[in-house]
Amino acid sequence: MTVMAPGTIPFAVTDICPEAVTAAVDVLQSGWVTTGPGVEAFEQDFAAFVHADHAIAVSSCTAAIEMSLRALNLPAGSAVLTSALTFCGAVGAIVHAGLRPVLVDVNPLTLMPDAVTTAQAVARHGQASAMVVVHYAGQPAPVQELAEAAGLGLSHVVEDAAHALGTWTADKPVGTTSATTCFSFYATKNLPIGEGGMITTNDGDLAARLRPMRLHGMTRDAWRRYLPGGSWRYTVEEEGLKANLTDLQAAIGRAQLKKFPAWQLRRASLADRYTEALSQDPRLITPGIPLSGTHAWHLYVVQIHPRTKIHRDEVIDRLTKAGVGASVHFIPVHHQPFFRRLLGPTGCSGLETTNIVFEQILSLPLHPLLTDAEVDRVCATLLDIVRSAEVTLAPAASPALVKGRL
Ligand SMILES: *Cc1c(COP(=O)(O)O)cnc(C)c1O
Repeated sequence: MTVMAPGTIPFAVTDICPEAVTAAVDVLQSGWVTTGPGVEAFEQDFAAFVHADHAIAVSSCTAAIEMSLRALNLPAGSAVLTSALTFCGAVGAIVHAGLRPVLVDVNPLTLMPDAVTTAQAVARHGQASAMVVVHYAGQPAPVQELAEAAGLGLSHVVEDAAHALGTWTADKPVGTTSATTCFSFYATKNLPIGEGGMITTNDGDLAARLRPMRLHGMTRDAWRRYLPGGSWRYTVEEEGLKANLTDLQAAIGRAQLKKFPAWQLRRASLADRYTEALSQDPRLITPGIPLSGTHAWHLYVVQIHPRTKIHRDEVIDRLTKAGVGASVHFIPVHHQPFFRRLLGPTGCSGLETTNIVFEQILSLPLHPLLTDAEVDRVCATLLDIVRSAEVTLAPAASPALVKGRL
């Protein structure tokens, strides 16, 4: 972790609750630390939390996405749609699964693909075999609408819910709408373990394929083989990965999950406080509030209005100098040299809104340990910086970027 000067407000802080520390020590002293009964218990708690029939614990959300796509048994090299404004690892997972990513432009206000940009990507690049839908920042993505725009059934949709534990679509938690849903327990995510992931599904056949896939394709978990009366024998029926979660991580996760509802309330209250302080200033565009469902507020992403003549990089530099951490989510996938080569000029085209909003977005500190006074200081510092900039009356670069229009 970066050492911060006193008075500095870091972008992210990992809060591991005391109960998780105790539970971790118990596992370390138990004589069994890798995948075992603790993982099973965490899977049960997690499945119940998102109202899913099955949960399969894995080593990361990246592995969860790769495994989910492998489990769909698509022809090698098939096209898979995903957002151009997502984490590079989530697109790497498509490549690892032997498939071909097709990037979709975003809506300038939600910063996620919408039905229009999805249909445009299909018109430009042809019918895709599957789609990875990301709930950017914790907003509920319109999964059904996007699937229809892509001409796909929900059985060919994988949700990237790395930001979306705690997100509800209209009437249910994210976790059961599509073939599978993939969660992350990375250090900065809403349920931090440090590393880890989870796949949820209501499809029993998919779950049965995914369970052995996370551990070399072996038909029987190692710990069951070592139980009294257990047999040393196992078979490998299908190709597998080494992507299991350990009992140590699961113990931390179970304890953290008990704190999670209170943490989410705190995040929502901090997000409200940001919006109240920042939304009145026309130099900034604050995140939209979903019309239905629940926002998990993993990230609080503001945009510098295109009429405000200051670049995002300068804003972040000045925030940093003032002791306020900030970040950018994300560097567009097609700006990375590896993906530029992989996608080629055609695959990198038609992503104009992503290119425009990338220059304007910044993520402000947001985590349950943040205080109201710290949010007030972040807002005052940011407003000072943008108010020092000239505001032009020329039309905005993108007509859709008219403040307040969704
Ligand atoms: C963090 C993140 C991931 C990857 O999660 P890991 O658990 O670190 O593999 C995937 N997608 C998005 C959108 C993320 O932010």
